[in-house]
Amino acid sequence: MKYTAEREPPLSEKGTLYLVATPIGNLDDITLRALKILNEVDLIAAEDTRQTVKLLNHFDIKKPMVSYYEHNKIGKGNYLMDLLLEGKSIAVVSDAGSPGISDPGEDLVRLAIENNVNVTMAPGPVAAVMGLVLSGLPAGRFVFEGFLPMNKRERRERILALKNEVRTIVMYEAPHKLIYTLKDLTDMLGDRRIAIGRELTKKFEQVVRCTLTEAIEKYSKEPPKGEFVLVLEGAAEQELLEEERRKWDGMTMAEHVDFYTKQGVSKKEAIKKVSEDRGLSKREVYNRVLRDP
Ligand code: SAM
Repeated sequence: MKYTAEREPPLSEKGTLYLVATPIGNLDDITLRALKILNEVDLIAAEDTRQTVKLLNHFDIKKPMVSYYEHNKIGKGNYLMDLLLEGKSIAVVSDAGSPGISDPGEDLVRLAIENNVNVTMAPGPVAAVMGLVLSGLPAGRFVFEGFLPMNKRERRERILALKNEVRTIVMYEAPHKLIYTLKDLTDMLGDRRIAIGRELTKKFEQVVRCTLTEAIEKYSKEPPKGEFVLVLEGAAEQELLEEERRKWDGMTMAEHVDFYTKQGVSKKEAIKKVSEDRGLSKREVYNRVLRDP
């Protein structure tokens, strides 16, 4: 690994959009590069200016700021693009963590790409990644779900779509909806291991590693407070294979072959699959299908 200290992409006549990650709690997690960029840009677009002002004051940074958040992102996004095309450089910061992850930063990135504006990032904390790493669950493969929708039907569909997901699942949740979400996950996905990261990097940081039902019991007794990352165990691959196997358990050999041909597989290929499923030779399957059509 070769490190370089000063590298910034060459500026064209257009400005540059910098997505700048900020701490998710502990101010010491700011990076040197984030400070440098915040000090040098023409303007800071902040999701929550009241929050960002605290950060800027702490590091003695004086910069003009505009608000850029979910409900003004269309108008403000176009305004920021005009400034970038005029050659101004702009830093985007979210309430906390990495802009673009579960906040409107992603729309600005898309706009910048569409307008051929330089866009780069000063990377840093992401609550989801910290939660995943501390969960103790497999971190090599994971999916990020952000916040589940509140609309009942959409929420149900989203959770059910995770039923066969074998990768570890990471999501965000607000404290007042935590129990509701834990119950929905248990009802639709069954009891599973979960790690609940709370107030990460802050004074009262905590990671609770338990099962969904244990978590419901815990947070029913002590109402949840603070910010939460949920890291849920994926579906067990072995169970999925078993479920797949049970699909053809009660079928005759011929029905089993049909099961595959109906999926668009040729008869020859279907016989091969059936022989693999049942641990038989292809000839044996072929003979049995002929005998028992
Ligand atoms: N962009 C941010 C990031 O990179 O992590 C996330 C923004 S999202 C709007 C805010 C959610 O992130 C919170 O509701 C919570 O679920 C999670 N979160 C943020 N900070 C956290 C922390 N210190 N501990 C646990 N979860 C946190």
